[in-house]
Amino acid sequence: MPCIFCEIGAGRVPADIVYSSPEVTAFRDINAQAPTHLLIIPNRHLVSIADLRPEDAPLLANLVSVANELARREGIADTGYRIVTNCGLNGGQTVPHLHLHLMGGRSMGWPPG
Ligand code: 5GP
Ligand code: ZN
Repeated sequence: MPCIFCEIGAGRVPADIVYSSPEVTAFRDINAQAPTHLLIIPNRHLVSIADLRPEDAPLLANLVSVANELARREGIADTGYRIVTNCGLNGGQTVPHLHLHLMGGRSMGWPPG
């Protein structure tokens, strides 16, 4: 089975893409949990944040700065937002390709479930 997020990043599976660059793709979550719910992925396959090595620091910085830029574009920067990445079974990760969730447009509870 090909990785669904690799396929979206490569343009072989459709998604509501909101940002695309050689390194990073962002698209709307198919099951949005907030008025704005975007997923930001590296185009290169990494299973989770646990796969990041010290030399991947620029990639992580790029993912976060794309998320921040998209928060501005979505109009949620001033009211605040959440960036989260789930890692592994107990982290609640369901798609084994590293992704940041950018969520906003409503008030979030803490701690999450
Ligand atoms: P996780 O549970 O791994 O942190 O998050 C995976 C997210 O990917 C979920 O919020 C889920 O709704 C979303 N998702 C799963 N498959 C697809 C898909 O094919 N397209 C899009 N746009 N989102 C997906
Ligand atoms: Zn992948």
